[in-house]
Amino acid sequence: MTPDDYFKKLEDTILRNQELEKENEELKKENEDLKKRLLYYENPNTPPSARQIEKADKTPTENIPAPKKRGAPIGHKGATRPTKEPEKTKEVIADHCEKCNSPNIEKLDKCETSIIEDMPPPQKITTTRYNRWKVKCLDCGHQFISKHPECPKTGGFGIFILVYIVMLKFFLRGVIRKIQDFVLRYNDLEISPKGIHDILLRVGEACKKDYEDKIQKIRRTKWRYIDETGIKVIGIQFWLWIFRTDTNELLVVIRKSRGKKVLEEILGKEPEGVNGTDGWRAYSWMKLQRCWAHLLRQVDAFIDVSENGKRLSEDIHSCFKKLREFLDRDPSMAERMEKKNLFEKELEGIITKYSEFKELKKPLTYLKNGCGCWFTCLLYPGMEPTNNLAEQAIREHVIMRKIIGCFRSEKGAENYQYIASLLATCRLQDKNGFDELEKVLRRELCMS
Ligand SMILES: [Zn+2]
Repeated sequence: MTPDDYFKKLEDTILRNQELEKENEELKKENEDLKKRLLYYENPNTPPSARQIEKADKTPTENIPAPKKRGAPIGHKGATRPTKEPEKTKEVIADHCEKCNSPNIEKLDKCETSIIEDMPPPQKITTTRYNRWKVKCLDCGHQFISKHPECPKTGGFGIFILVYIVMLKFFLRGVIRKIQDFVLRYNDLEISPKGIHDILLRVGEACKKDYEDKIQKIRRTKWRYIDETGIKVIGIQFWLWIFRTDTNELLVVIRKSRGKKVLEEILGKEPEGVNGTDGWRAYSWMKLQRCWAHLLRQVDAFIDVSENGKRLSEDIHSCFKKLREFLDRDPSMAERMEKKNLFEKELEGIITKYSEFKELKKPLTYLKNGCGCWFTCLLYPGMEPTNNLAEQAIREHVIMRKIIGCFRSEKGAENYQYIASLLATCRLQDKNGFDELEKVLRRELCMS
């Protein structure tokens, strides 16, 4: 290396060093600013509306700008949205005849175009044009419009967006305004409250067939647990009923009536199988297993009334304990039938023993009214002597009621039944609600 070269090299190094120092200073400053911004973002006291990361072209020292006003557009845009320019186009041409399965297909001159906005996982919105071509089968002459499993025949949203919106509503129990805000921020998806409402109705319609099938399953089951709870629909008292089968099929039914006619409508006039229920009189005409948890609560309420009340409670608890222990042994049917008689005699004995005590009239009437229905489950291996499974299943709807208060329309309530039944069944059966809903929507909205 010549001295000239050496000095040139040294000079370069010094310059480079100065550059790096400067850059380091800048980075330090930027780092500080980023920390401040992060703190601001993470501060739980920052209102969510202010938690917006600044655009890149803003200098970090500037104040956080007020976010653009979100919410319903003035005068409501309505359900129809401007169609976006698709990023890609899919030509959908059937490769076989939907009628005779022949592969001999000719593409014709007609095409149905749908512009579908959808969201493949994870969260980026895609816009796809589906040109669904009309085709003709050269074997049987059948002409039809080609179908695509990701292109609903009506509406501008794809299956994943439909599932996503439904899940925000049902899994996260989101209110519609919050869902709107969430998908705008998180997914950059612009949709009006009415648009969300329409999606829920469309998905509900698509779940209807599944719902009808479920009614048949509820009818054919060996036993079912039933419960009902009050719910307001546009300010009027309605009842939300649930039916849960031995195989964890769950049906939600919302009706104005709390009476027998709902049971007749769902189960038929002569229902098969046993019904696990509480003491509500609408159930009394059916074959019942009365709930022991309710009975225990009834008698426990009289523990402090008198010494007899205390003993009654102890006797009923002891009876229930024996029933439980017997069931846990998984006895044979012959044993069950024999034991059923013994248990019934024992309970009759308890009733006789306490019937002279006036202060215990209420729990004894409760006991007597259930006579013949306290031990039915003995003849149905696997059936529970309590209605806890129904009460567990109704709980999520009680939480929903607490959150939304009431249904704003009968249509909304009707629709809730269809979607909630499908999702609750998935949950009870340990199936993925997203996958199941997707399947149903593909089948009903795209391929039907
Ligand atoms: Zn054909």
